[in-house]
Amino acid sequence: MTRGAVAAIDLGATSGRVVVGRIDDGTVRLDVVERFLNNPVRCWEGSTDGLHWNVLELFRSALVGLRKATIDEPDLRSIGIDAWGLDYGLLRGGALLGNPYSHRDERTIEGVRATHELVSQHELYAASGIQFMPINTVYQFTADRLARRVHTGDTALLMPDLIGYWLTGVPVAERTNASTTGLLDIHTRDWSTELANRLGFTASLFPSLVEPGTVLGPLLPIVQAEIGGQIPVVAVGSHDTASAVVGVPALDDEFAYISCGTWALAGVEVETPVLSEAARIANFTNESGVDRRIRFLQNITGLWLQSESIRTWEREGRPIDLPALIEAAAALPGGSVFDANDARLLAPGDMPARIAQCCIEVNQPVPQTPAEFTRAINESLADAFARAVRTAAELSGTSVKVIHIVGGGSQNALLCQLTADRSGLPVIAGPVEATAFGNVLVQARTAQLISGSLEAMRAVITRSVTLQHYKPR
Ligand code: ADP
Repeated sequence: MTRGAVAAIDLGATSGRVVVGRIDDGTVRLDVVERFLNNPVRCWEGSTDGLHWNVLELFRSALVGLRKATIDEPDLRSIGIDAWGLDYGLLRGGALLGNPYSHRDERTIEGVRATHELVSQHELYAASGIQFMPINTVYQFTADRLARRVHTGDTALLMPDLIGYWLTGVPVAERTNASTTGLLDIHTRDWSTELANRLGFTASLFPSLVEPGTVLGPLLPIVQAEIGGQIPVVAVGSHDTASAVVGVPALDDEFAYISCGTWALAGVEVETPVLSEAARIANFTNESGVDRRIRFLQNITGLWLQSESIRTWEREGRPIDLPALIEAAAALPGGSVFDANDARLLAPGDMPARIAQCCIEVNQPVPQTPAEFTRAINESLADAFARAVRTAAELSGTSVKVIHIVGGGSQNALLCQLTADRSGLPVIAGPVEATAFGNVLVQARTAQLISGSLEAMRAVITRSVTLQHYKPR
């Protein structure tokens, strides 16, 4: 009988959690020991304002969670960190220079224009396989170069690597998350020095790459004193989507996944990148996955549409109960469909007003009540999901017989049913904490608590959780 426990720090773009994962003879159980919000902060920067992550508060919350985890489970084998992609902290001499920007900061608009003056979008895709999004790291870097910020740093660390650095003092770039920067060469899987040079950054900004499963090292003495234990930190699929894809409870390889939270990532798993012109035009990305798989997927503006709408209504003094709102939306006969990927929906602000405008432009009825907006959001997301899955299958030549929806959105029965209806495929929903499962299982394999392939890890999840099934109507 193999038993043991690990701790996962999982940082989403709206909330984070610390989870204890217990492995017991081929099954896994998760216990969330700490949850915290992750809200970017807008503040004045002299001539304009900037949207920043409160990264020290995130680190503090992670330490509080780790302290609770060590009390819960004194014999933790390791700690692993995953977080959202794209964003980074700049350091000099090991010290952080300013608060990291959120990818939703508007500075990237200028970054896109200036990047494409030096390297075309076509060339970027051929080199990195990464889909165009104005929020991509490569555009953030260019914006920081124009603002003369990049030159003040000697190291750039992506968010989970920054937290890992503060835990261990070891600066690395974990490969699955590094691939989201658009600066990894898709063929060599190494930093593209040529791309970095052409864009005016020095490749020495980026630390050495490590694979998921690499032991980074022991905790720094200050951290050890804080959390009360000496536990090694292990690199996992540190891009949260990479961990979520490990956490998809698929029984075979004929599946598509939708990791549905603030963002929704819809796609398939492939062995080799798909770099065709059709894939570029369809805006599909080839991100590195655990065990050298490729995550061929599309980023879709996910439940951000819902959470930002709720934020607007609550600012207006209308408190919202999400499960009740979803039920009210499900009781409606139908809803308007707009383009969920419209770039105007990315930034924080009055989301219902923007959705109303999108509906007008495509001659759809303008929703009036929160329930009508919610129905329109879910119809539009389901429509985007169904199209993304169909396109992923066609472009990659993958056979898809079932769609797995994982993450917070898998609790949304309306969204899952509409996705089944619009795709004509069965949907299996859950687990909610797929990302934490993926994080825990990669650590468990490193600690030799489980063995084997990705498929074997997925079988551990299937044995351990209850899933919801939706048939297309
Ligand atoms: P992230 O990790 O990106 O912060 P999550 O995977 O935690 O996001 O998903 C958050 C989303 O899940 C919320 O925006 C919300 O729409 C949805 N959600 C959370 N709880 C429920 C629930 N009880 N019913 C339906 N949807 C839910």
